[in-house]
Amino acid sequence: MKFAIIGAGLAGLTAAYELRQLAPDAEIDVFEAEERIGGKLFTVPFESGRTDMGAEAFINFRADARAFFEKLGLADSLVYPSGLRSLIYSGGQLHQMPASGAMGIPATSAALEGLISPETAARIDDEANQPGIDWDPASDLSVGALVRERYGDDVVDHVVSSLLGGVYSCSADDLGIRATIPALAAVFDQMVADGEKVTLSAAVAKMDKQRAAARASSDEAPKPVFAAFRGGYAELYEELAEQSGARIHLDSFISAIEKKGEKFQLKGGEGEFDRVLVTTPAPTAAAQLRLVAPEASKALKQVKLASSAVVGMKFDSAEGLPENSGILIATDEPGVHAKAFTLSSKKWPHLAERGGALVRASFGRFGDDALVRAEEDDLVDYALDDLQKITGFDGRAAGLAEIFVQRWFGGLPRYDATHLATVATVRSALTAVDGIDVAGAWADGVGVPAVIAGARAAAGRIAK
Ligand SMILES: Cc1cc2nc3c(=O)[nH]c(=O)nc-3n(C[C@H](O)[C@H](O)[C@H](O)COP(=O)(O)OP(=O)(O)OC[C@H]3O[C@@H](n4cnc5c(N)ncnc54)[C@H](O)[C@@H]3O)c2cc1C
Repeated sequence: MKFAIIGAGLAGLTAAYELRQLAPDAEIDVFEAEERIGGKLFTVPFESGRTDMGAEAFINFRADARAFFEKLGLADSLVYPSGLRSLIYSGGQLHQMPASGAMGIPATSAALEGLISPETAARIDDEANQPGIDWDPASDLSVGALVRERYGDDVVDHVVSSLLGGVYSCSADDLGIRATIPALAAVFDQMVADGEKVTLSAAVAKMDKQRAAARASSDEAPKPVFAAFRGGYAELYEELAEQSGARIHLDSFISAIEKKGEKFQLKGGEGEFDRVLVTTPAPTAAAQLRLVAPEASKALKQVKLASSAVVGMKFDSAEGLPENSGILIATDEPGVHAKAFTLSSKKWPHLAERGGALVRASFGRFGDDALVRAEEDDLVDYALDDLQKITGFDGRAAGLAEIFVQRWFGGLPRYDATHLATVATVRSALTAVDGIDVAGAWADGVGVPAVIAGARAAAGRIAK
């Protein structure tokens, strides 16, 4: 059987590896538009060591992802964070990150002390007395719209958008509850099923209680929330490429898939294939599918992308940098350009071993690409100025030894309140088209474990 995979990002390479496990004699060709593999995983050779400029970590809860990395022989490469807390910068001050709640949505105002006005605090604590939320278990709502309506703008603009924005590069207004905080949606669904009045504060209180009960009943020491690879994500994507034994064609921009008799051909790539797996970002996948799966292509066009930029900075000295993992910045904070700082050498002991300080500044959100397009020198200046303003750390005086600016145009799909329905429509339309399947961040979730799980499942389907 001959397989074509379009895209050599995490989904494409994982699928290639998985296909090799399932069909050892298969011919697998991976077509990648860029001159390198990895997609949004991109490890850059800083002089001080390999450093990630795309994804830098993954959520460490999923046993399937851990087992997968072990199977690849990467168990010894996994590293864990220092456990230092993160901060939020809002109203010109640094605050502790809320320790409870759902992506910054609290059960009571106490969780956001210092971050919200007294009026907002009173509103949160009275929310359970308001008429219930009209929650439809078959649908989704905008996170921003719901939290604004129930708690007020402060909660969204000072806290929730910065937490969600750190993952999705979108403000809470552009994200769906079920799409991005599925555990909260599940509690809402249960409240509807139980005939309870649905309120935000009661739902988040239930989530806090469930988490506390899970912690209390577990005999195991709590696992670190995040993990990463000592040598950066290159360890993962290089291993996947190597062990897949696939032919990887770089510089191969695929513009469309065509069906010729029983076989598929790719515009921009040579060969005839029995099966094709599309792992490109949604708008590109829509274009590639237009001839063979017009309905799926049409639905997929609705998925929009969010852009961002990352400025990686290595300083000779770490003196004066706060003892924290990172800082998220409120979306309505005046006079600050960055949306977040990862204090990488504070967050990760293996990066601290390099000496000095490593800091990543992030810029840009869905709908506002101006910063992502800014001149490189300006982005570096914004990063240094913001860092000094927020923490007092003077990066210029600390010796800025290395800089890398990475722009991620269309880096992440927007998981808005219609996203899950769109994905369901695309998948349903594709069931009518034999031999073609899809995987990747828009289809399976943006986190690395979700992308891996989705790509493995897709490989299993097309191997049949
Ligand atoms: C800045 C940033 C930080 C992130 N941080 C984290 C994190 O810390 N933890 C986490 O879990 N997740 C993180 N993510 C998300 C995660 O990195 C992505 O969801 C995941 O890597 C996406 O993998 P993918 O294979 O679906 O897509 P991609 O990586 O986009 O791969 C798609 C591939 O298709 C190729 N392609 C595009 N068009 C064509 C074409 N016409 N022909 C052929 N090939 C084409 C692309 O060049 C690319 O290589 C982050 C994402 C970004 C942008």
